[in-house]
Amino acid sequence: MRFTRLRLNGFKSFVDPTDLVIQDGLTGVVGPNGCGKSNLLEALRWVMGENRPTAMRGDGMEDVIFAGAATRGARNFAEVVLQIDNTERLAPAGFNDADTLDITRRITRDAGSAYKLNGKDVRARDVQMLFADASTGAHSPALVRQGQISELINARPKARRRVLEEAAGISGLYQRRHEAELK
Ligand code: ATP
Ligand code: MG
Repeated sequence: MRFTRLRLNGFKSFVDPTDLVIQDGLTGVVGPNGCGKSNLLEALRWVMGENRPTAMRGDGMEDVIFAGAATRGARNFAEVVLQIDNTERLAPAGFNDADTLDITRRITRDAGSAYKLNGKDVRARDVQMLFADASTGAHSPALVRQGQISELINARPKARRRVLEEAAGISGLYQRRHEAELK
């Protein structure tokens, strides 16, 4: 699964609409302390369905909305759009007529999050499943937070196994089995 573009609007420090083209190969994000490097990675995780405010370094999910600065007022919403290449037709049924897939997540104060796939309303679960099946997503081992390497080294075997299963691409199956067992 190849990410081709990341657009942010009102997300954390990215108050103005920001459009990043993600080229093939390895992408590095460099800049001085506090310039927003981690915020970018959090935007990526957020649009893929992350629902724990702590993973966004916040107390509540609305903390991802631009909170205002000395010269600018706070925003009422935050939006992130992730564009992925869909030439391999990996999208869920009904979305495979397009070469690119735009996943949009928008949060509005007091109204929560809403997701869209190529402009059509979908549920959080649809987006999470899409990435779980592609062995990526908000909890993917491919996204390594600051400080996470030492956490992984010190993790209990069971927690470490979960990371390896995610990397092996079988966590989508586990999620489905878990849901089947609940029914
Ligand atoms: P470091 O190199 O120290 O890891 P970084 O480039 O990863 O820094 P971030 O942690 O991504 O920097 O960005 C921190 C900045 O984002 C801080 O200035 C913080 O005030 C700002 N910020 C975070 N959340 C919001 C928000 N909701 N509204 C406005 N600004 C925010
Ligand atoms: Mg950082």
